[in-house]
Amino acid sequence: MPRIGMGEWIAAGGAIARGHLSRYGKQARYTNCFEKRLAQATGATHALAVSSGTAALISALAAAQIGPGDEVLVPAYTWMATATAVVMVGAVPVFVDIDETLTIDPGDIEAKITPYTRAIMPVHMGNAPCDMDAIMGIASRHGLLVIEDACQAVGVRYKDRHLGTIGHLGAYSFNKMKNMNIGEGGAVLTSDERYFVRARGYHDLGDLIRDHEGGLSEPSIIGVNYKVTEIQTAMAAVQLRKLGPMLERMRRRRAMMAEILSGSSEFRVTPHNDADNAVSLTILAPTKEAAVQLQGRRGVWNRLRDSSKHVYTNWEPILAQRTSHPKFNPWAWANREIRYDKDMCLRTLDILDRTCVVNLGMTYPSAVMRRVARGIAR
Ligand SMILES: *Cc1c(COP(=O)(O)O)cnc(C)c1O
Repeated sequence: MPRIGMGEWIAAGGAIARGHLSRYGKQARYTNCFEKRLAQATGATHALAVSSGTAALISALAAAQIGPGDEVLVPAYTWMATATAVVMVGAVPVFVDIDETLTIDPGDIEAKITPYTRAIMPVHMGNAPCDMDAIMGIASRHGLLVIEDACQAVGVRYKDRHLGTIGHLGAYSFNKMKNMNIGEGGAVLTSDERYFVRARGYHDLGDLIRDHEGGLSEPSIIGVNYKVTEIQTAMAAVQLRKLGPMLERMRRRRAMMAEILSGSSEFRVTPHNDADNAVSLTILAPTKEAAVQLQGRRGVWNRLRDSSKHVYTNWEPILAQRTSHPKFNPWAWANREIRYDKDMCLRTLDILDRTCVVNLGMTYPSAVMRRVARGIAR
């Protein structure tokens, strides 16, 4: 994750000095400019800055008119926000196993499709891209929408397209754990004019931020307030400039370490859906016990099984189907009974049990990390 530095401090100060902190009309100089740059950088036609990644996911689902009666396919390994967003628009999440790439398994997507399935939400976990070719193929064969959760993969490419711009809509997060960090923030990406207008309206109580000289191309819908401040987007523009160079350094470091690690006979480097662009590095042991052993080595971080609310078994309110009000409960109006239990995605648990994260050590010289990789692959 990138550091916050003098550049962000000066940009935020500039926004404060200007005195227009919220995004209204043409005075939203920083926000309008950031959205334009984000769209240019990613190749999306439209980018909408919002207050968080969760807000981006909810706005994207609302833009796509997903709601009561709809089932949305969500991987069993993702930040809980993916499943939560589905519930917030009145639809129900249906959980899909991951495969060894740590992303949603296209084979299990096919197995989980029902007549009520409306959308697939591929999640690019820890910078690892989903198999987007397979997923887009399945989606077009079954007439499903694809809403990419690229919150953990901002700026990462899959076969020269940016994650978040391949599906019908995409969501980014800029919280402190992500590739761009402004504390809290996010964005919706889409190349569909209609989805963009709906997302923009939804995130702002029906679109108050524009003056609509020629009227709206879509009727305004009841929405929320997920707007960003000018201070956030001033900082985000600085972070965006750092993103490409940071990911390129990570890509080179990852390639060097993965080559060394692939010589091990004790474990495999996690398979990757686009190895040339890879910036994520995890290793897969043959057994849980072997993975626990690897955890003791310098440079090996936690097993993914221990990554708290990234694992479906820890999504307590979702598993219990507990909403803010008992009558506002999407499972009650779903087209069929949807049951969850902790054993529903055992394959996911097995893979997470055996996978350890390897530290790329970006604050260390590569010679140090070469030695660390050799130590892991001893
Ligand atoms: C961080 C994250 C989110 C939510 O982002 P926030 O900005 O924290 O709301 C959603 N999905 C995934 C996969 C994430 O990692």
